[in-house]
Amino acid sequence: MLQVVDRGGLFLPSCGLWMDARRPKRFAVVSHAHSDHTAPHQSFIATAPTIDFMRIRLGDAAARRGIVLPYREPYQHGPLKIELFPAGHILGSAMVHVTTESGESLLYTGDFKTRFGLAAEKIQVPQVDTLVMESTFGRPDFTFPPSLAVHEAIRSYCQQSFADGEIPILLVYSLGKAQEVLKILEDVQLPIMAHRAIRALNPVYQKYGFCLPATRPLDCDNMEGHIVLMPPSVRKKLPAKIPPHRTAMVSGWGIKESARFRYRTDRVFPLSDHADYSELLQFVKQVNPRTTYLMHGSTAALASDLRRQGREAWSLTCDDQLELL
Ligand SMILES: [Zn+2]
Repeated sequence: MLQVVDRGGLFLPSCGLWMDARRPKRFAVVSHAHSDHTAPHQSFIATAPTIDFMRIRLGDAAARRGIVLPYREPYQHGPLKIELFPAGHILGSAMVHVTTESGESLLYTGDFKTRFGLAAEKIQVPQVDTLVMESTFGRPDFTFPPSLAVHEAIRSYCQQSFADGEIPILLVYSLGKAQEVLKILEDVQLPIMAHRAIRALNPVYQKYGFCLPATRPLDCDNMEGHIVLMPPSVRKKLPAKIPPHRTAMVSGWGIKESARFRYRTDRVFPLSDHADYSELLQFVKQVNPRTTYLMHGSTAALASDLRRQGREAWSLTCDDQLELL
C-alpha cells in the first residue's frame, strides 16, 4: 500500500511526490490556489485557473514554473500516473488521483465539497484503493443548512439593510467565497463595491465562463448606497467613522451560534466551500477505499466514526492507532 505522511503538505515517501507542500519543493502538485496550499515551487502541476490565481498572488515568475494539467488528463511523473478531478471547492480546485505501476490507486482530496456551488466546477468522484481526505468539518454537529436558504438569507440581509438605511458590509475571503457571494447577489440589482483583493481575481472567473456582476472599487468615503464586500482582514483598516452600517461574515463556521461573537459581526452566514459531516461520510462511501487517512480538523473523531462503520480509517495528524491497544 502507498505510504502517506503529513509533512506540511501530503508526501508519498515511496515515490517522493509532494502535494500542496507549504514550503517550496523541486516538484509538487498544487490542488488549488488558497495560500495554505501553495508555495513558489521550482516546478509544479495544477489546473489552468489555479496557475492564473497563483500568477496574481505569487507573481509571474512563480506561475511560469507551473505546468497546466486539465481535469481528467493523465500526466506521467516517473512511474506514477497523475490525474486531476474537479473538487467542487473553488474555481480550478482539483483532487489528485495517483496510480502506481502496479495499478495501486490513491486519491488526495485537497479541500473539497460535494454540494452544488455557484462559482466552482462540479465535483467528480473516482473510486480508489487509498483515500486521503480533508476533514475540516468532520463532526456530526457540523451540518450545513441547504445552500439555497443561505443564499436567500444573504440577499434579504442586504435588502433589509438598505430598507433600514444601513450599508451591508459582507466579510468574505477574497478567493472563492467572494465570487460565490457575487453570484448570489447577481439578481439583487444593487450596486456593489469590492476590495481590490477580490476585484483582482474576478477576471479569472470571467475567463473560465463564470459571469460575475460588476463591482466598483472600494471607496470608504462613498460607501453609501452599495453592498460592500471585503476580506475580514481589511475591516480593521476601515476609518473610525463610516456611515451607519451592519456587518456579516460569510463562513462555514457560522453554524456555531458563537461564531457571531468570534467574528464580532451582527450575523454569520453558514456558507462553506468545504464538505460537512454527512458529505464526508457519503464521499467515503462513494470512493469506497480500502483505507482512508484524514487531514485537517476533526481527524481523530471522524476516523473513529468511520471505523465504527466498519471502514479502516486513520488520522494522519493524531496517533489514534492507540485506540487499537
Ligand atoms: Zn481551500
